[in-house]
Amino acid sequence: MSSGSNELLVGGMIVSAKILEVKDLKKHFPVKRNLFGKTIESVKAVDGIDFYIKPGEVLGLVGESGCGKSTTGRTILRLLEPTGGKVLFEGRDITKYKKKQLRSVYRDMQLIFQDPFASLNPRKKAGSAIEEVLYVHKMKDTAERKDRALELFEMVGLRQDDMDKYPHEFSGGQRQRIVIARALAVNPKLIVCDEPVSALDVSIQAQIINLLSDLKNRLGLSYLFISHDLRVVKYMSDRVAVMYLGKIAEIAAGEELFKNPIHPYSKALLSSIAGIRPGQKRKKIVLEGEVPSPVNPPSGCRFRTRCRYAVKQCSEVEPQLKCLGGEHFVRCHLC
Ligand code: SF4
Repeated sequence: MSSGSNELLVGGMIVSAKILEVKDLKKHFPVKRNLFGKTIESVKAVDGIDFYIKPGEVLGLVGESGCGKSTTGRTILRLLEPTGGKVLFEGRDITKYKKKQLRSVYRDMQLIFQDPFASLNPRKKAGSAIEEVLYVHKMKDTAERKDRALELFEMVGLRQDDMDKYPHEFSGGQRQRIVIARALAVNPKLIVCDEPVSALDVSIQAQIINLLSDLKNRLGLSYLFISHDLRVVKYMSDRVAVMYLGKIAEIAAGEELFKNPIHPYSKALLSSIAGIRPGQKRKKIVLEGEVPSPVNPPSGCRFRTRCRYAVKQCSEVEPQLKCLGGEHFVRCHLC
């Protein structure tokens, strides 16, 4: 998938037009081996996906639970080893980086998990959690690390005396603020936000979403924003990728996709938020059948077992991601 030129001229400097580029990325989990230890069956959680993120851009990643969204985020960050494909960060292929080289990448790329409580050490004070990140990355001396932690606390809306509290002394929303501050500590350029508000009360979700949006604008961050909540994705994203059974079904500018989804799966998925625009009427499309097993996905188009438009070709030939013009790509024979 290409968006044209790979370079931009910013302030007299040539920079990559894509901060992140994912090419034919695969992550398979072996589930069965033969007598000789060779994998004979695997869960194809991510099975050849391509997309890019531009500097300062938010790419939303949506799809039903189990479609491979979170695995994609973790594989990009090399928390899971890719089975195949490439991840390019600012043009550098980080797929084969050794542990030491990855440390420099983690200064530029960070992750915000779904569950803030699980991602914080219960025995560590909130301020120390941030200072520790700076220490690991060999950034600043002791006094400077404290100052930086305080600066970050203020940036995410926490108070100075919160630095000496333990995670259990905070509310869920406050804990997610600590996690965000910790992610920002090393001045990253890209953050993978994996369902960052789904573990929070509805009343708190909007505050965290607004904080992420504000930080993105203030600091010029890029996000890969993974969520099953379409309203949140619509609010946050510049472009949106729809994922189905380990593949990208459609990817387009958020406004365009929500207004005019083309892929039958995107149409069904987005129909569930009919009325998101004032006066808009969209009939809810109920998908029939179960999501097929990622161990043995259907031949041809993976969506064919649930697609009302499927024709013979759909079971025989796998559709490729086609460009419909601009940055709108769809994987369907009938488009
Ligand atoms: Fe449906 Fe065929 Fe298009 Fe797949 S390729 S979405 S089965 S029409």
